Amino acid sequence: MTAPMANTCGRLEAAWEVLRQIPDPEVPVISLAELGIVRDLRETAGGLEVVLTPTYSGCPATELIQDNVRAALTAFGEIQITMQRAPAWTTDWISEEGRAKLKAYGIVPPGLTHLTEGQPIRFVRRGASARLACPHCGSENTEKTSAFGSTPCKALYRCLACLEPFEHFKTI
Ligand SMILES: [Zn+2]
Repeated sequence: MTAPMANTCGRLEAAWEVLRQIPDPEVPVISLAELGIVRDLRETAGGLEVVLTPTYSGCPATELIQDNVRAALTAFGEIQITMQRAPAWTTDWISEEGRAKLKAYGIVPPGLTHLTEGQPIRFVRRGASARLACPHCGSENTEKTSAFGSTPCKALYRCLACLEPFEHFKTI
């Protein structure tokens, strides 16, 4: 491998490292890289091109995310952000580490219905209506209290067993 190539790899790796530190504006425990919305990173003549796929269309955080990415990568030169809408983001792109962080935060990660330790994690088909298990006590006796939680991307639930509210990142 030639020296310039090695430098390129080092630069991109350093930029990825920065992206792994940028929190998602809506769920700050998870980074943009863990959320899986950073699809690609390329070197350009004057800096970097970052390819992002927005999570939910109409999610108000999208613009904020672009601003945050630009601000965090200023040391890398001119940052060009390309929004790539196809293929559409799916909750499958959230990394394992990201899912674990969502769980620790008390949010049922998308696509999962059960989070209780020791229980198999069950995935639900997209669009299927499934009963969510409470992330606090594991009870399936839960109800949706609002289609919108703290943000339009999350729905609010309540556990009828322990009475704790919880949020679910909508599965798409
Ligand atoms: Zn509960």
